[in-house]
Amino acid sequence: MKWYKRLHWQIIIGLILGLIWGLISSATATNEFTLDYIRPFGTIFVDLLKLIAVPLIVASLVVGVTSLNDMTKLSRMGGKTILIYMITTSLAITIGLIIVNTIQPGHALPEETRIGLMESYVENVEGRDQAAQELLEQSPLQFLVDIVPENFFEAASDNTNMLQVVFVALLLGIGLMNIPVQKGEVLIHFFDALNDVIIKIVDFIMKIAPIGVFALMAAVIVELAGDDLSQAINLLSALGWYCLAVTIGLILHVLIVYASLFKLFSKMKLGDFFRAIQPAVLLGFSTSSSAATLPVTMERVEKNLGVNEEVSSFVLPVGATINMDGTSLYQAVAAVFIAQALGMDLSIAQQLTIVLTATLASIGAAGVPGAGIIMLVIVLQAIQVPVEGIALILGVDRILDMLRTAVNVTGDAAVSVVVAHTEGLLGKLHLDD
Ligand code: ASP
Repeated sequence: MKWYKRLHWQIIIGLILGLIWGLISSATATNEFTLDYIRPFGTIFVDLLKLIAVPLIVASLVVGVTSLNDMTKLSRMGGKTILIYMITTSLAITIGLIIVNTIQPGHALPEETRIGLMESYVENVEGRDQAAQELLEQSPLQFLVDIVPENFFEAASDNTNMLQVVFVALLLGIGLMNIPVQKGEVLIHFFDALNDVIIKIVDFIMKIAPIGVFALMAAVIVELAGDDLSQAINLLSALGWYCLAVTIGLILHVLIVYASLFKLFSKMKLGDFFRAIQPAVLLGFSTSSSAATLPVTMERVEKNLGVNEEVSSFVLPVGATINMDGTSLYQAVAAVFIAQALGMDLSIAQQLTIVLTATLASIGAAGVPGAGIIMLVIVLQAIQVPVEGIALILGVDRILDMLRTAVNVTGDAAVSVVVAHTEGLLGKLHLDD
């Protein structure tokens, strides 16, 4: 196959063209055209992905659970998945803390930039602060209560309730396992067929991925730059060290943590792994949403990485909701950066508090754009750093959101490989596209 016919190259070309379009659009003050006539194609693309996420989770999880046919295997896999998720998240935060304490980006921020940023973004902070405040007022066990929906259709009608959908699908699967085979057969066949149909739909949607990604990218650039490109460039360079610290942390996390996981628990090479899941990572990057990317992540992990559906149908939806290595790393860097910029020195105890709260905050963050910065409020409050400091980083958050979401998606896929391998459920790698 010619290189440019490969899906990931088409997506990369879409991304680059979108970037160029966005830059030209803001340089020539034609932003309105881009927002009115280009952005809708990106929205349609993301909506299509979101549309199939819930039915896909239900169908594939029911099929996955019933084919496991063994409760002990299911609970062992569940325990293993959660444990690896927790370990990788704490490692991500530790890497973030080491990097931010080494680079010290907050000390490099000029005084006048700090004052300017605080003034211009402080209004935006209020809404986010309120959202996090509501969360803080809840019982510490609220997250358990939230997993159990009181109405399935309500749960299924909101894409941020993935865990509730996972819960119902697990119940359904376990129920099916426990009734006579002849009776359950009809339902199992139904979900099996539904699953195949949705996977086909993912294929259709991915045909327009390059166009969707082009539109998303053009819109992001236009929204960021507005009509004054030079202002956006100034902001980026003022916060350059901070962005660099987050980026280096994310790269190191992938190179150290995922590569070591593969070395220890599976024979997969990091390069092969990335070649297989590239389109999912690129989509995570361009949509800034692990939830919207989920159908594609599932398809790539099953078809290309060879992870058995019994594993992927559980590990990936749960991961898209609670496993956010990129987000937790970013929260650690952002919290320390804000403290540094405000002239506060954080003690070791405060930095350890960051490890704990950023783990919880990343679990609580939904797989949607901008969720990580809302949950950052919780981290800042725990270490007594003024929440208004978020104003300092809001301007560049969208870009960092793209990067951290790409890592979030990568992390879920990496853990599914490890769990599948250790359960003897990892098939052949397919790198053809
Ligand atoms: N956008 C991220 C995700 O969907 C969450 C975040 O804002 O960090 O994974």
